[in-house]
Amino acid sequence: MHIEDSMRLDFKDVLIRPKRSTLTSRSEVDITREFHFPHSPEPYHSIPIIAANMDTTGTFEMARALAKHQISTALNKHYQPDELESFYTKEKFDAPIFYSLGIGDDEFNQLVELQKKTDNAIKFLCLDVANGYTETFVAFVSKVRQTFPFAVIMAGNVVTGDMTEELILAGADIVKVGIGPGSVCTTRKMTGVGYPQLSAIIECADAAHGLGGRICADGGCTTPGDIAKAFGAGADFVMLGGLLAGHEESGGETIEVNGKVFKRFYGMSSKRAMDQYAGGVAAYRAAEGKEVLIESRGSVEHTVQDILGGIRSACTYVGARQLRELTKRTTFIRVSQQLNEIFGKS
Ligand code: 5GP
Repeated sequence: MHIEDSMRLDFKDVLIRPKRSTLTSRSEVDITREFHFPHSPEPYHSIPIIAANMDTTGTFEMARALAKHQISTALNKHYQPDELESFYTKEKFDAPIFYSLGIGDDEFNQLVELQKKTDNAIKFLCLDVANGYTETFVAFVSKVRQTFPFAVIMAGNVVTGDMTEELILAGADIVKVGIGPGSVCTTRKMTGVGYPQLSAIIECADAAHGLGGRICADGGCTTPGDIAKAFGAGADFVMLGGLLAGHEESGGETIEVNGKVFKRFYGMSSKRAMDQYAGGVAAYRAAEGKEVLIESRGSVEHTVQDILGGIRSACTYVGARQLRELTKRTTFIRVSQQLNEIFGKS
């Protein structure tokens, strides 16, 4: 038995050390980024935050609201082809919208049909499986790369440098990183498998950047500060589920309990999602996601302002005039306590 002894860290284990800076105001900070990719010729120029492709956050309404702020969305996999066709052909956005698919033949065929009907309007793809370590997945990434050489392909999820490299060599432009950190994920509990997210980001970013690829840190951000830490650790993109859930633009049933309005939020591998889309939890597997009720948070506009304001301020504290400089200017310090919770957790 071999145990890797060096400590792997999560967002809560570190803080970003402030640095001398010539910046006078956070309004001077540019948090858009321009990326060029190893395979696709399509550039990305927006704020590199992406709403997760969960059916509670990856909605058309969320995409419209976030794109106004130049934030991207990965659509959930459960829209009908005619809805998607109309969305991609009739609407224009100020941020790329990712189309999500798993490795099923039917999902691949649906994408081929949609590309034909929309004259290849779908330029950003999110190939998404819970476990990105299988040979089948690597082969699928290659197949999608060969079929759509123009598309930006984001693929995952993985948490180690070796597999990040393998996915990029197979055709991915962006590797999605995170196993187990999600707010409604129970993978670590059910399987004992996972990797602390901050270390996963540092290790995978190093591997991806060596090959000219990019990474998207997916899951585990509970505050705007965590997003800043993810960027500081080397993430090119950050994907958010829980932080964007519970808003008017989020999907999921609204329910009233004792006069208070709540929204359902659930993992895409939860029993609720499987009941809804797969006719229940198959006999050979267990749910690896849970369901929570979130008190309704109103429009996502306010949350967006908090998130963007937090990131701009983080850049100001370390003297990064552009988000691109944040990683270079970040020094993490290990801490045993990061928040003062005397008045609760909010
Ligand atoms: P959050 O921002 O809520 O912490 O994390 C969002 C991410 O959690 C998603 O982008 C996705 O990768 C992951 N996720 C969503 N649903 C499930 C689930 O049911 N099980 C697991 N293991 N992960 C999930």
